[in-house]
Amino acid sequence: MADYYDLLGVSRDADPETLKRSYRRLARQYHPDVNKDPGAEDKFKEIGQAYEVLSDPQTRARYDQFGEAGLGGGGMPDMGDMGGFADLFETFFSGFGGAQQGGGGQRRRGPRQGDDLRLDLTISFQEAVFGIEKEVQIRHLETCTTCKGSGAKAGSGPTTCSTCSGQGQVRRATRTPFGSFTQVAPCPTCEGSGQVIADPCNACGGQGLQQVRKKLRINIPAGVDSGTRLRVANEGNAGQRGGPAGDLYVFLTVQSHPSLRRDGINIHAEVTINYLQAILGDTIEVDTVDGPAPLEIPAGIEDEELLSVPGRLDAVVRVRADSHAWLTREERDLSYDLPLSITEATLGATVDAPLPTGGSVSLKIPAGTASGKKMRIAGKGMPAFNGRPAGDLFVVVQIVPPRDPSEMTKSLLREIAGQIENPRARIAHLRG
Ligand SMILES: [Zn+2]
Ligand SMILES: [Zn+2]
Repeated sequence: MADYYDLLGVSRDADPETLKRSYRRLARQYHPDVNKDPGAEDKFKEIGQAYEVLSDPQTRARYDQFGEAGLGGGGMPDMGDMGGFADLFETFFSGFGGAQQGGGGQRRRGPRQGDDLRLDLTISFQEAVFGIEKEVQIRHLETCTTCKGSGAKAGSGPTTCSTCSGQGQVRRATRTPFGSFTQVAPCPTCEGSGQVIADPCNACGGQGLQQVRKKLRINIPAGVDSGTRLRVANEGNAGQRGGPAGDLYVFLTVQSHPSLRRDGINIHAEVTINYLQAILGDTIEVDTVDGPAPLEIPAGIEDEELLSVPGRLDAVVRVRADSHAWLTREERDLSYDLPLSITEATLGATVDAPLPTGGSVSLKIPAGTASGKKMRIAGKGMPAFNGRPAGDLFVVVQIVPPRDPSEMTKSLLREIAGQIENPRARIAHLRG
């Protein structure tokens, strides 16, 4: 068969809309009810097959990579969009009787393929990740056991249809969006079989089929997602008059998980740690698809960092450091306010400045240090992490008055007050 892109007359990078437009135009042109040229029907089928493959991103990718060989024989993937061709066909050619199976092959009398059926199935997040075998109950049509599918009462048989004289077809004129056509349609009396059942089977009313409840075990592979369709071959409705059975399509819906979510093949958990855990590092417990697992938080981790949980599938953890009571952070630098007494600030002192990572450093305060002075302690901010250097720690001096001063303290301070310069002298001068 020719290259699918050539068949549809599009380039290899055509977007889905272009594909669909081109397919619709060609399908109208070559539809066997419209185009009577020899070969039109074959061409129509080829276009349909090409579109079926290229309209599904999965099969298109396989075709791009491996050509027709990548499609596995008939080019019918077990998973994926099987609806594209049939849907379009119905939309465009619903005026043409008996066109539902495409290509016109079903207009012939004789065996008729059973319908495909849909089953909606909801599974849990874990089941989707690990795969599971599920037992489901379905209802479908099976070949009638009483008449073995013939539709006739035991001892009787079908007789020739009088409407079509056994031809199975009638001619009729049909108006369509593309003009008026005389077309051959299946006989409405015998539905194209050319035969009618004079004495129908009581069990199935002459249909040769009966509704049956059936339990099925469905194997759901690991890694499915909402929207995945699984095909269970031959579990649709049975065919009539010996025709093949349709298939059962299982449409999956995957329930969400309270703390995990899917991102392609990865699974994300979101955990929140506090500031100190981000600075110091910690080992915490996180949910994974197979239970809680320890997660090591490295010291100095960045906000929104992704961490893998080793040995636990592809679980990934998002870490978000929350706010801290007295530390503020800018990039990898940390800062906090360092309270000083009036005397320490005035006379100078050596004080212990606590470090966020624990412990403290000795900090020399020069005499005459004013509130707001920023002092740098190099390398004591966020610890080095993942090739990024450690940040610095900044302490901002705040001079605080003595709390609850005694009478003696007050008296001493009053004495000092007369001795020291008015700190507002300079701004008084500027005001004139
Ligand atoms: Zn029967
Ligand atoms: Zn008939």
